[in-house]
Amino acid sequence: MAVTAFTYAPAPERVRPKIRERYGLFINGAWTAPNSERYFETINPADETVLAQVAYAEAQDVDRAVRAARKGFERWSKLKPADRAKLIYRIARTITERSRELAVLESMNGGKPIRESRDFDIPEAGAHFFYHAGWADKLEWALRAGEMPAPIGVCGQIVPWNFPLLMAAWKLAPALACGNSVVLKPAETTPLTALALAQIIEEADLPAGVVNIVTGDGATGAALVDNDGIDKIAFTGSTDVGKVIQRRLAGKGKRITLELGGKAANVIFADAPLDQAVEGIVQGIYFNQGHVCCAGSRLLVEESVHDDIVARLTSRIRTLRLGDPLDKNTDIGAINSRVQLEKIHELVRSGIEQGATFVQAECELPARGFFFPASFFTNVHPSHRIAREEIFGPVLSIMTFRTPDEAIEKANNTPYGLSAGIWTAEGSKNMWIAQHLRAGVVWCNTFNKFDPSSPFGGYKESGFGREGGVHGLHEYLA
Ligand code: NAP
Ligand code: MG
Repeated sequence: MAVTAFTYAPAPERVRPKIRERYGLFINGAWTAPNSERYFETINPADETVLAQVAYAEAQDVDRAVRAARKGFERWSKLKPADRAKLIYRIARTITERSRELAVLESMNGGKPIRESRDFDIPEAGAHFFYHAGWADKLEWALRAGEMPAPIGVCGQIVPWNFPLLMAAWKLAPALACGNSVVLKPAETTPLTALALAQIIEEADLPAGVVNIVTGDGATGAALVDNDGIDKIAFTGSTDVGKVIQRRLAGKGKRITLELGGKAANVIFADAPLDQAVEGIVQGIYFNQGHVCCAGSRLLVEESVHDDIVARLTSRIRTLRLGDPLDKNTDIGAINSRVQLEKIHELVRSGIEQGATFVQAECELPARGFFFPASFFTNVHPSHRIAREEIFGPVLSIMTFRTPDEAIEKANNTPYGLSAGIWTAEGSKNMWIAQHLRAGVVWCNTFNKFDPSSPFGGYKESGFGREGGVHGLHEYLA
């Protein structure tokens, strides 16, 4: 019987955001040159072209930003809460109005498929500002009755490259709603949407110094952590850097929240609707090329359905389209950087050397840019590096279990504790397993679902503190 092949029609996004040739530092409500006069290139990881020159902030620039934030704090914390709310709503509305342009910019600078930045990153970023604007004048209800909440002061915020605008929104929106001022440092490889947000904040007429954005690299982040003018550090990134930050701040009496890495178990029971579970596996690991801290990167499958799941997943990954992030049909975009691509290759090599079986979707890779096809490992042993370390790429490690107790034991056998998934048709089993998993977020019969009203954060080496919801407000109140 003849089978009609699926024909692929490219659907390139036509909107192009305005990108400046060169970006300064956003300090005290104005764009300023860095002390060193040094700028660095930011590129498009899908074709390695240079998008813009971005200012490199050293300790002196960071100090300028922190001093501006101190003055900004005096202004912002004295505003009537309802007036703060109005300004945060203004930011939220502008993000929503410019969502298409911001989505394209996010995909150009970070490599993620336009479908994801358009339908997830940017709308969620807007939603975080809307949600927290609503809290700004209702904070007395966020705490115990009768307590009058006070902001903490100047917050240093450091974000990673995997959800650049969204992570900036997760940090800025609650800090501002609670009356704090901020110095935010975006990741070196993805500064452009944070700088677009600085433009939005400039236009929204927030008092000068309330939000300062300093670009640079890890040393810029370290200068922020070491600056004595900061009252709190909120960090999202790797567990290694999180530990360094915690050590540097030990004994200094500053507030600190750490959102770190993960190696989430996605647990599939034999009674689960397997078609849906396979979609959940795909969403869990291939979303954003697997550059997701809460990715379902360890698949635990009940032994009786292992072969069935592997067969379904093998054919499903062949249908995932890898390529131009700005093509609306693309499922797997570019890996964020050459460094990250090398890390993925290194861990995949270790998996093969340690004896796991590697399965990869066959597809043609673009001539330029950083790409890695959807892949998974079977025959994985819990001691393998690919079962323990974060790959942070589109690579899944599959293991099996026989009983619910064994599933729980294997799921918890990790230094991390950020998230987990459970797939079963039985409601009581879902609840029982969820109660025994040591993970900050547990999804039942779904994966990678987010909402500004639900708290997010980890246990163990995935960090501490919560972002989102009422819990997240507490992290920004004295
Ligand atoms: P990373 O290397 O830890 O970097 C995160 C941020 O910290 C970046 O802005 C980075 O700057 C900065 N930084 C680097 N060294 C620093 C230092 N010594 N002091 C202060 N800041 C420093 O992490 P990444 O590789 O960018 O991001 C991936 C990691 O983040 C993964 O482990 C992932 O699981 C985790 N993550 C966690 C969450 C969560 O909510 N739990 C969310 C997203 C990502 P440069 O990039 O400019 O070097
Ligand atoms: Mg880094």
